[in-house]
Amino acid sequence: MTTSDFSSLPLTAEELANIQSLEYLSMTPIQAQSLPAILDGKDLLAQAKTGSGKTAAFAIGLLHKLEVTNYKVQALVLCPTRELADQVTIEIRRLARAIPNTKIVTLSGGKSMDPQLASLEHQPHIVVGTPGRILKHLDKGSLKLEELKTLVLDEADRMLDMGFHDEMMRVISMAPKKRQTLLFSATYPTEIKKISNAIQNDPVDVRIESVHDDKKIKQIFYEITAGERTGTLIALLQHYRPESSLVFCNTKQQCQELTNELWRQGFHALALHGDLEQRDRDQVLIQFSNKSSSVLIATDVAARGLDIKDLSAVINYELSPDPEIHIHRIGRTGRADKEGLALSFFMNSENFRVTAIEEFQKSPVKIESIESLKVNENGKLIPPMVTLCINAGRKDKVRAGDILGALTANKELTGNQIGKIDIFDKLAYVAVAYPVAMQALEILSEGKIKGRNFRVKKLH
Ligand code: ADP
Ligand code: MG
Repeated sequence: MTTSDFSSLPLTAEELANIQSLEYLSMTPIQAQSLPAILDGKDLLAQAKTGSGKTAAFAIGLLHKLEVTNYKVQALVLCPTRELADQVTIEIRRLARAIPNTKIVTLSGGKSMDPQLASLEHQPHIVVGTPGRILKHLDKGSLKLEELKTLVLDEADRMLDMGFHDEMMRVISMAPKKRQTLLFSATYPTEIKKISNAIQNDPVDVRIESVHDDKKIKQIFYEITAGERTGTLIALLQHYRPESSLVFCNTKQQCQELTNELWRQGFHALALHGDLEQRDRDQVLIQFSNKSSSVLIATDVAARGLDIKDLSAVINYELSPDPEIHIHRIGRTGRADKEGLALSFFMNSENFRVTAIEEFQKSPVKIESIESLKVNENGKLIPPMVTLCINAGRKDKVRAGDILGALTANKELTGNQIGKIDIFDKLAYVAVAYPVAMQALEILSEGKIKGRNFRVKKLH
């Protein structure tokens, strides 16, 4: 029996109060099953789907063990991408509020080394980062792991997909043998089992059923013939009009071709795949999350692990050959008590894949005819917002309030016409309501932010 009450854990009153202040009322299943073992110092091999609260599981564990007066790296978290490393750092910081003076540093690739080297002059307590960059710091001697107590591999399967196997293993070989190793993975290929055998010591094995709860996800399959794929996708978008949808393709090339085709047909679609430059990837995610693009077309590798909330629909433009990945894909819609929508295409020759999915999820799937879709020819899906990119960022001391202030200063625009604001080192992005986009562009281009003129452009 496991209880889901955080107070059943051997945590301090401060730690519990902080968890409560984050409105984490009870443990998620992965937390309930893994935290007792983690807090007991055991190694852990855990599998659970995206969004199940794995970060807090390891964060609460590593923070509980931290000796704040010892300025040495005591915990290292390896993540597959820079975005994930950033998300994990944010979550650890929130949970670390109960422990004053905790120093956490993020070390990811695609960023310059100098600020990272500066932040390592005094060793932090916790390091989060991507394997390649961590290795570079270890080789340089700027990062030292002699006193490492906890090693976390987050999204280990994805690190393998991304070709980080060797770098990951080299980093691990530089960590002390006596340590706690927590390995998290969304799927469970044999490769993960092998790595676990190689680097863990008698781990507690926790697997949370990834089969979705079909009360929360409405799942419908459509049988199509070759050549009907894109037309059917457009019909689905027009029929269901999802505010945000994630469309899965199996290859990068298919992602890009489909995106181009949707643009030609008047849809605002963006592709997310491994070939994008970091800045383009950031822009795609910003536009999707601030509602200035409503269709994100992605490969599994590119989409996994991203904490994208409020997905109205997941569409399988191409079925995954693996039923587990299928369940994983559709698990991204219908979170947080909202009903999700999962729509999938299959061809007659793929019937066996549909059967495999039914077997995996232990329930039959619903198949509907594409004739049932109501297609409105003029029913274009126009995203409610438009993103403006400003050539100024954190390094220019620009904050969200400055941008909001500049936009609303002459009272032509109101606060509710301005959406999410994202600030990066040298760039900032602001979402503005579609009808006032040109006006907002003019206000920012002609006006000043913090007394200075900056270049502003509208993103497509
Ligand atoms: P995973 O790593 O399993 O994909 P995350 O750790 O990113 O999932 O968690 C998903 C979301 O759930 C985050 O926004 C996190 O803040 C939230 N969360 C985590 N634990 C709890 C909890 N016990 N109660 C409520 N929300 C939680
Ligand atoms: Mg995670």
